[in-house]
This record gives sequence, C-alpha cells and structure tokens, in this order.
Amino acid sequence: MALIVQKYGGTSVADPDRMRAVAENIAFTKRHGNDVVVVPSAMGKATDNLIKLANDVSKTQPGREMDMLITTGERVSMALLCMALADLGIEAKSFTGSQAGIITDTVHLKAKILEVKGDRVREALAQGKVCVVAGFQGISTDKEITSLGRGGSDTTAVALAAALNADACEIYTDVTGVFTADPRIVPQARKLQHVNFDEMLEMAGAGSKVLALRSVEFARNHNVPIHVRSAFTWEHGTWVTSQEPNMEDPIISGVVTDTSEAKVTVVAVPDRPGISAALFEPLAAANVNVDMIVQNTSHDGTTDISFTMPKADKATAESIVARVAAEIGAAGVEHDAEIAKISLVGAGMKTSPGIAAKMFRTLADEGVNIEMISTSTIRISVVTSAADLERASRALHTAFGLDSGQAYSAPLPERK
Ligand code: ASP
Ligand code: MG
Repeated sequence: MALIVQKYGGTSVADPDRMRAVAENIAFTKRHGNDVVVVPSAMGKATDNLIKLANDVSKTQPGREMDMLITTGERVSMALLCMALADLGIEAKSFTGSQAGIITDTVHLKAKILEVKGDRVREALAQGKVCVVAGFQGISTDKEITSLGRGGSDTTAVALAAALNADACEIYTDVTGVFTADPRIVPQARKLQHVNFDEMLEMAGAGSKVLALRSVEFARNHNVPIHVRSAFTWEHGTWVTSQEPNMEDPIISGVVTDTSEAKVTVVAVPDRPGISAALFEPLAAANVNVDMIVQNTSHDGTTDISFTMPKADKATAESIVARVAAEIGAAGVEHDAEIAKISLVGAGMKTSPGIAAKMFRTLADEGVNIEMISTSTIRISVVTSAADLERASRALHTAFGLDSGQAYSAPLPERK
C-alpha cells in the first residue's frame, strides 16, 4: 500500500463542480488501496480577493492579521472537500496547518517551514481516514498563524510528503505537466516526461511558475518524487525526481521565459571599492530580490552597473537607487521595464561545451540584441528587449531540438 500526497491548486478546486471532481479523484486513489493526504489551495482567486479586501479596508496591514486573513481561503477548501468526500462515502478529516503540526519561523507572509510534526495526520491515517491539510500555512515557534508566501501550498504538500515518507507527491494543476517552454509563447512546446530536481530548481528560479521554488528545494533536499499533472484531463504528467539524464536524453530540457523583471542601470558610477556594496546593501535590507548584475569595465574611472529585479519591487527600489546614486556621485539612473529574461536549462550542459556559443549565434541570426548574460552549471540566461521574447524563444526552441515529439494540446474538458 502506498502513501500518496495530492495537492490541488486553486483552479482545480475553483467551484463546486471542480470540488466534486477532485473528491472523486481522491476517492478513486483511496479505493485503489492507497493512503491519501490531500493539500488543497484556496478556491480560484480567493487569496487574491482576500488581499484586495484588506487593501480596501486599510493601509496598515500588520503581518499577523494579514496571515489570519489570507490563511482562511485554504480552510474553506479543506472543509468543503471533506464534505464532498463524505458524499462519496469516504471518511475524511480536515486539519489546519497548525493542527497538522506544520511549524514555521516567525516571518509573517513568507514563513519558512522548520518542522512537520504530523502526529494528528498519522493518527487519522492509521484510522483509515483521508487527511485533508490546509495548504500555505503553519504555526510559528511563537504560536502565531503564518503563511508561506504566494504559491505556498506546493511547499506544504512536499513538506508533508517528506515528513510522512510518502511514496509520491502529486501536484494537480491546470496544465498537464512541465513543458519545454510556455506554450502561450512557444506554440511548438511539448510536455516533458521527466526533469530532475536541479533542472526544476533552475526552471523555477528562471521564472517557470509550475512549481513554487521552495517546494522544489524541499523535494530535492528530502528526495520526494513529484508528479506534476492535470486535475482537468487527469492524464500522466511530468515526474520530477533525482534521476540524472542519460546519454540519449536531450542536453537542453527547456526554454524558460520571464517578463516579471525590470532592469535598472546606474550610469557612470565612480570605479572604486565599496560602490557595489553601497548600492546593493540597502536593496537587500529592503528585501528587493536582485537577480542578474552586470558591471562594465571602467573608462575614465567610471563604470555602469545594471541589475534586474522583480517589477513588483519597482517602487521600493527606485527611491533607494535614486538616493544611493546621488550619494556616490553617479551620473544618473535608467529604468527599463520592457525586458524579457530567456533561459536555457538542461542537466546535460554540465558535460557538453558550446551551448552558450550556440545560443548567442541563434539569437544573433535572429537579430536579437543581448543586454545581459548570466550562467550556472546547468542554465544560461540572457536579457533581451521584451519585443524580442517570442521570436528569440521560438528560435532557441527549434535550434536546440525541442520542437520534435508530442505537440502540446490544450487541456480537454473535465473527465466524465
Ligand atoms: N492560496 C495561496 C496563493 O494563492 C497558496 C497557493 O495557492 O499555493 O498563493
Ligand atoms: Mg496556487
């Protein structure tokens, strides 16, 4: 008998019909002799709506109270799901993150899971019950309710799977798996059968939204196999495991695109020790997540420093950078929100040289200008103008042999 953790995303449980369809899949899994732990997200846009409500009510939003508010979405889901399961004759019991013993640090709105006790979950499983644990939340070491950051239900599911030593963690969502590219941008994208943890981590870091970054870190650290699949077609999806690619596997697994970042350039900065620290320390202190950084070689004792960061942090970053630029005597600051980050990810890169050269040649032949470059052992990212996004990513997808194979088809309507 296997123990399966199943996470259902917001769209998968968005309305009463979806809730019942999900309950059927849980019942199906249970009746096939498995123990099942379920982690639902909040229904549809429920979390967004709660945040909007808070914005409409107040300008001061203490983290503690925000967490009290936004963790309620998942409580709604878990209770309704247990009711739908009861209709199907399945005994189920819901638990909040706190009841399930999901212990976090004390950082409201983006708490980190420190430990999963799971005693009550184990107890209910031993009684043959399906356990439904609210995603996205826990209780801090100060005994306060915390939330895990947007998309945090993935992390709840993987952490529970690790703690309970589950055989697999199924992440049900509105796409059928992990793709070689975003099908809305690269129509010839296709579903991958398998990616390994390192590739998935790089993909999530490069802007892929399929799995929350922290959930993949957790899965890798605890070796929890993840199956990303559709709650609409129920077909076989993509496995994310520790398995390294073999010789026959393609060198590149995917082209990942991201338009959520903006570029900032501090122009003509004096080239002397301490300047980068003076710029990036206050940004770090303000929790601005700086991604790529490029510093050009200096001419006449000055240099340009460019970096990228989430557009969402624009307001915070702008005032800090303006202040620091004046302090260090820079000539000015330029902002560019019309950029795209395009990354090639593939574990095969480690052992095969020339990938960067081929990437740059492909972009050159398309007339695409590269503004920034950064690499890891299994990823190469470039920043281009947003206008070049589609052309560049389609060309790369073709050049690296990702077009062949099963074509992407939009999810079918619900299973009957
Ligand atoms: N409901 C939360 C959110 O929308 C958590 C999740 O969906 O994973 O961010
Ligand atoms: Mg979600």
